[in-house]
Amino acid sequence: MAELGKLVEGKVAIVTGSSRGIGRAIALKLAECGADVAINYSKSADAAKEVAAQIEGMGRKCLVVQADVSSFTDAQKMVDEVVEKLGTLDIMVCNAGINKDGVIWKMTEEQWDQVIAINLKGYFNYCRAAAPVFREKQYGKIVNIASINGLRGKFGQSNYTAAKGGIIAFTKTMARDLGNKNINCNVVAPGLIETEMVAAMDEAAKDKSRTEIILGRIGQPEEVANVVAFLASDFASHITGQTLNVDGGQLM
Ligand code: NAP
Repeated sequence: MAELGKLVEGKVAIVTGSSRGIGRAIALKLAECGADVAINYSKSADAAKEVAAQIEGMGRKCLVVQADVSSFTDAQKMVDEVVEKLGTLDIMVCNAGINKDGVIWKMTEEQWDQVIAINLKGYFNYCRAAAPVFREKQYGKIVNIASINGLRGKFGQSNYTAAKGGIIAFTKTMARDLGNKNINCNVVAPGLIETEMVAAMDEAAKDKSRTEIILGRIGQPEEVANVVAFLASDFASHITGQTLNVDGGQLM
């Protein structure tokens, strides 16, 4: 059993969408807790390099991979590269996500397709590529980042909430598919968290969300990362198929 603070010592992790925001905080937290980490980004190369430098500064190995998570082929390539260069894979965190909001009577086919391709198929792609590695070694941790809005719906976000609700159902099924090989599959569902995604939100919508939060403040990416590190560790060895909300009580 790992020591608290060295939760994932000696493990190898992939975090998708880890150049910025919540993914960045997760990658840094896993490295701080002892893992070598492969980070992924689509556009923000400089930000990704900065995260890698911090991880290496902690004495951990880091691989930086540019890939659009919606590509099935690229996901397989990244997993293969991680296994080859970092020696194995123990932890898969799917986090990369976007939003393209619009009320249902105005949402375009393109808005729907883009969000589903990145926020839902992107998760399938990486979990599908990681699953055979985890089955072979009879060990693995999958942590998928959804949203509380995948549990309750949200005005103007039919595409986003369909993807997030889909992630929750898909992760429960994976927990059943993979449970007999010592593989834990869980979801973290954040509420409103202070990142660039939220900075881009309409002020009125942000204010409304803020008033729902029982703890009275927006969450920080590190507060999501702490929970991901726990679920990715052997401290959570008897937890699978669960969704843990990190939302300051927003959905309570
Ligand atoms: P963010 O600040 O916008 O960061 C998104 C990250 O995903 C970036 O690193 C971005 O990298 C990457 N990304 C986007 N499209 C990608 C693609 N096609 N392929 C690979 N990487 C891609 O967002 P965030 O707020 O940290 O959100 C992270 C996750 O948490 C998302 O799944 C989001 O839905 C979820 N979430 C966030 C909140 C919140 O309040 N912030 C609440 C609930 C759930 P590039 O810049 O390189 O594209």
